[in-house]
Amino acid sequence: MRVLPANPRFRVGGQTMGPKTPTLLVALLMLHPACGSSDDGANAGFAPAAVPSFPQVPYRGGPRLTEPEIIPVFFASDPLRDDLSQFYQWLDQTDYLTAAVKEYGIGSATLKTPVILTTEAPKTVDDVDIATFLAAATGDKTLPPPGANSAFVLHYPASTVVTLGGAKGCEQFGGYHGRTSVPGGALQGMVAYSVVPRCSWDGEDLRLTTNFATHEIVETITDPMGALDPGWQLDDTPGSGTEAWAAIGGRELADLCENQMYHAIDAYWVQDIWSNEAAAAFLNPCQPGDADRAFFTVVTDATIVHAAPGEEVSIEAIATSNKPTADWELAVSLYPPPSDFDGAAKLSKTSVNNGDRVVVTVNVPPVPPMNAGRSVYRFTIDSLEADASGFYHPWPVMVVVP
Ligand SMILES: [Zn+2]
Repeated sequence: MRVLPANPRFRVGGQTMGPKTPTLLVALLMLHPACGSSDDGANAGFAPAAVPSFPQVPYRGGPRLTEPEIIPVFFASDPLRDDLSQFYQWLDQTDYLTAAVKEYGIGSATLKTPVILTTEAPKTVDDVDIATFLAAATGDKTLPPPGANSAFVLHYPASTVVTLGGAKGCEQFGGYHGRTSVPGGALQGMVAYSVVPRCSWDGEDLRLTTNFATHEIVETITDPMGALDPGWQLDDTPGSGTEAWAAIGGRELADLCENQMYHAIDAYWVQDIWSNEAAAAFLNPCQPGDADRAFFTVVTDATIVHAAPGEEVSIEAIATSNKPTADWELAVSLYPPPSDFDGAAKLSKTSVNNGDRVVVTVNVPPVPPMNAGRSVYRFTIDSLEADASGFYHPWPVMVVVP
C-alpha cells in the first residue's frame, strides 16, 4: 500500500488492494492511444539508442464492462456534490475515458443520472458495510438495477472515514474498486463498484477526487472482477516476466501509470492510463500524452536480475529517448511491497541523454533474509522531466537471490 505524501503532484499512492474474501479489491484511478510518431524532418538523423521492452498488458479472459454505465452515488449533504456532478458531465462529454479504453475493446461509456442519497453520510464505513449497502440498495431500488455493465462510483464526504481490510482511506489509499454479490447482480452474480473517499491536500479536494475516480473507473471497466477472474491485468506471479512492472503500482491499467497522476485536463486532474499501443510505438505508455514532447527513459536488458549472497551486482542501463531532448536527471526510488534487503542501488551518473550508458551497482548482503524461498530488492530508475512538471518515468528492476 501507498501512503499519500505531502505533495501529491510528485507521488501519491492512489491505490490499494488488499486481498479480501471473497471479493478481491483492487484500487484506484489516461487518453488517446498514441498515434504513430511523426517524422517531420526536425528529427532527421536522430535515432533512439534503444527501444524499451515495455510490457504489453494481456487480456486474461475475464469480464469487462464493454458498454459501461457510470453511476455516480453521492450523499445529499456532500459539499462537492454539484462540482462532482459537473465533472461527470465533463467525463461524459470529452473523449478522455473513451480514448483510454478503446484499445481494450471497450465502447463509449454512458453516464447515468447520479444517485443522491438522502441518508446521513456515516462517520465511518468499511468495505464490508459498503457491500451490505449495495445489496440492500439495489434490492430496494435506492440504486438502479445492477447490470453487467454497471459501474457504481460511491463518493463519501470528508466527514466519513473509509476503511478497507485494515487500511484507512486517504492514508493508505486514495480509492479502490471491487465487486460484491447483490440480488440480481448480472456480473457473475455481482456488481462492480468503486469507492472514493474525500481526500484533501492543499485545498485540492475536488481535483484529488476526480483523479482517484478516473483511476478506479478505468480499472472497474477493464478488470471488474480483479483476481477473481482477471480481465486486463499484468501477471505478477513471482518469476513472471512482468513481475517487476506489476510491483511499481499494481497489475492494472491505471496502476502502471501512478507516476502520472494529477494530469490536469481542463479543470480536472485525471489519471493517465497505460496504453499497449503507445508502449509498442515507443511513445509514453501513459496516455494521454503530448505527442510533440520527447519521451525518455532508461532501459535494462532484464527487469529481473538474479544474484548470489554477498555479490556486488552491476546492471547496465541505457538512456534512450524517442526524439531529441535536453539532458534529463536520474534517481532511484523504492517501491512497495517492501524489499527483503536494502541493496543501496547507486547510479554511475545522474544526468544523461540518448545513448548514455549508466551502471547501477547493487550490493547483496552475505545472508539476505529469505522470504518464500527468495530474497528480493526492488527499485526503479526514474527519469525525471527537466521542466519541473513533476512527471517522471520509472524503469523497474528486481534483484532476486538466488
Ligand atoms: Zn488501481
